[in-house]
Amino acid sequence: MLTRIAYRAAGEFLRPISRKYDLAEHTYPKELDMFAAMIEGMEASGEGSGAGAGGVRRRENGGGVRNGSNMASVLGVMEIAWGDVGLLLAMPRQGLGNSAIASVANDEQRARFQGMWASMAITEPDCGSDSAAIQTTAILDGDHYVLNGEKIFVTAGERSDAVVVWATLDRLKGRSAIKSFVVPKGTPGMDVVRCEHKLGIRASDTATIRFDNCRVPKENLLGSPEIHTDKGFAGVMQTFDNTRPLVAAMAVGLARAALEETRRIFRDVGVPIDYDKAIHLQPAAAATFIALESDWEAAYLLTLRAAWMADNNLPNSLQASMAKAKAGRMCSEVTLRCVELCGSVGYGEGELLEKWARDAKILDIFEGTQQIQQLIVARRLLGKTSAELK
Ligand SMILES: Cc1cc2nc3c(=O)[nH]c(=O)nc-3n(C[C@H](O)[C@H](O)[C@H](O)COP(=O)(O)OP(=O)(O)OC[C@H]3O[C@@H](n4cnc5c(N)ncnc54)[C@H](O)[C@@H]3O)c2cc1C
Repeated sequence: MLTRIAYRAAGEFLRPISRKYDLAEHTYPKELDMFAAMIEGMEASGEGSGAGAGGVRRRENGGGVRNGSNMASVLGVMEIAWGDVGLLLAMPRQGLGNSAIASVANDEQRARFQGMWASMAITEPDCGSDSAAIQTTAILDGDHYVLNGEKIFVTAGERSDAVVVWATLDRLKGRSAIKSFVVPKGTPGMDVVRCEHKLGIRASDTATIRFDNCRVPKENLLGSPEIHTDKGFAGVMQTFDNTRPLVAAMAVGLARAALEETRRIFRDVGVPIDYDKAIHLQPAAAATFIALESDWEAAYLLTLRAAWMADNNLPNSLQASMAKAKAGRMCSEVTLRCVELCGSVGYGEGELLEKWARDAKILDIFEGTQQIQQLIVARRLLGKTSAELK
């Protein structure tokens, strides 16, 4: 039911405006207001879990797991990304910051931040993959934390109502001193200084935000203010176990769009795809297509497994990274091969294939690059710490 509604809505509302907002970079897609309201309506009725912003509260956080909510999010995201992944990332109130709030905020904070559109700011000019190197500081001063630093490449950083900012309470105490803070827009000392021009996902704004003695109420710190050196990064990193399957789901949805379009173009020009025939007896284009489809299916199944494990309260860091690595790589490759298979038709602006090949790349970069996911998988399989395997 959820996936059918999401699929229809993505086809009827997002596809028709895909190209418009790819060309009109930095223009807010106002059509999304209605789409976001529909998602919220589904959430309120218990039919859906949004575009992934619902987050997941595991039992140790006192939330209890509603079996199926991660799976519902992942399936919904696949359909919306099939429509347009840039527009999905621009969806009001469905930011990665919303996932963080929903996953780790306490009840009072969740009530206070309800209805806010929150982006997520981790990356800095000198800190990307190695998020333990964060330089932005948060120093307690009375009832406030005072934030100083610069965040770059913040998805929805310009349009969101608040930003979940990662900052360190004490640079000398390493990764366990890194905490996240909800900073509402309009807080003095917080400035959006520019938006990036990008290869793909142009409907989504990507901002640089500066914090200059920005005072945030201490109640806006998410999780525990204590620095537990034994627990390391556990608090802030926890959200990744839930958000990486969502990014994998975006990749699965987008790649499916490219495969479906390629199949249609093959049909129009008379290239048969015959699953009952041995691969070496098919036209080369059809054989390639079938290989791409099987790669897609592996990513799809890994993504479902990671979501299923989260729903069932099983530790899924390994599987979430496996899904993100596989799906990110698969999506880049599949969308580019679809352009190749369709030749000039695939390369021109008459079809969305060229746009999808551009949109795909980011899914293998943000929320942890391909290489970082592989590193996490290797560490988990070999039982090595981040200090032992870098
Ligand atoms: C469009 C867009 C949207 C984004 N949205 C957000 C957002 O909302 N919030 C946010 O905080 N960030 C966001 N980012 C930032 C993104 O998460 C980072 O770009 C990403 O984490 C990589 O960091 P980096 O760009 O500094 O690359 P680097 O970390 O400098 O990496 C460069 C290359 O080296 C590789 N590499 C790095 N370390 C290792 C290693 N140990 N072993 C092997 N290879 C390694 C990387 O895989 C990569 O290929 C966004 C980026 C883009 C482009």
